[in-house]
Amino acid sequence: MLVVEGWIIDRDGEHAGYVVLDDEGRVVERGKPGTLGLTDYPKVRGVVLPGMVNGHTHLADAVWGQEPPGGPLSEIVRPPNGIKHQLLAKTAREDKVRAMRQALETMAGNGIAATMDFREEGAEGVRALHDAAWEQPVEPFVLGRPTSISDIHEVDHLLSLADGLGLSAFKDHPTEEMVRTARETVGQHKFLALHASEDEREPIDPILDLHPSLLVHLTTASVPDLERVRDAKVPLAFCPRSNALFGRFPPLHLAEKLGIPFLLGTDNLMFNFPDLFREMEFAYVTARLHHAPVKPESLLRAVFLTPWEVLGRPEMARLQPGGTARTLALRIPLRDTAYEIVARAGTGNILSPKSA
Ligand SMILES: [Zn+2]
Repeated sequence: MLVVEGWIIDRDGEHAGYVVLDDEGRVVERGKPGTLGLTDYPKVRGVVLPGMVNGHTHLADAVWGQEPPGGPLSEIVRPPNGIKHQLLAKTAREDKVRAMRQALETMAGNGIAATMDFREEGAEGVRALHDAAWEQPVEPFVLGRPTSISDIHEVDHLLSLADGLGLSAFKDHPTEEMVRTARETVGQHKFLALHASEDEREPIDPILDLHPSLLVHLTTASVPDLERVRDAKVPLAFCPRSNALFGRFPPLHLAEKLGIPFLLGTDNLMFNFPDLFREMEFAYVTARLHHAPVKPESLLRAVFLTPWEVLGRPEMARLQPGGTARTLALRIPLRDTAYEIVARAGTGNILSPKSA
């Protein structure tokens, strides 16, 4: 048990007060400043938030780790012949499961409660991630990818196993097959996510016509494209560190300005360490460097609040006694809280109720 006095940030806003957390980090008591009675539990000054959500990962890429090779991004990640797909194909299942389990453990230590993972390799890929996540504290939201989207039976089978689909890009497949796959996914009320306008701009209307639940990257999208995304009410996931490795930067500033809900993701694990503190800091600093600043509060929302809405589980972002929310408690100076968390905090600031 642990008592944290200071600030509570959740979907109801930012409030001064205290919370009492049990060993699992669940809220057992919450109160206003000055109302905490006598307690034997350790007391710390800091901030309590909902658990973080990594908005975009490819966990299995953790089997491989090295400096990104030069050359176009498509040579590395594009299915079916990109380097990473060749590597995944020749890696033993047990090695992939081990790598994914270690990645989930790493994320747990970084304050991440859930991750939205694009899991390639069809039904077997989804099963491997389920195995890796068994009894792990980080919950994977599994977005499978059929080995062939022309096989509607495979798509159906995959949808019965996964939370939804995480597809490559619209331009990577024949339009007719994309439309059919999307219709099947949306018809089954499953989550449909895909990469869009990552290394080259894609026409946005055919993509929005698929009724996606989430689009990833949009680094090369135009302002009118983003206006269409806003009008279609489709949330975005941005991966600033991953994009930067290939000379791009996501339109964080425009998304903020247009009021498009967005998430932050750490993307491919072969290139990036799955740490959302690093991602928030990089996003904030680099946006300023690009003379397109983004508010720390927007980045906090992208990591702690918006993803739970996107996942259809808003209660996970409400910190109330008896609620289901996982929490993240941070020992930080209580000055400019949002800036402190986004630009100055790291895993070293995480308080563990268990060891308190
Ligand atoms: Zn991706």
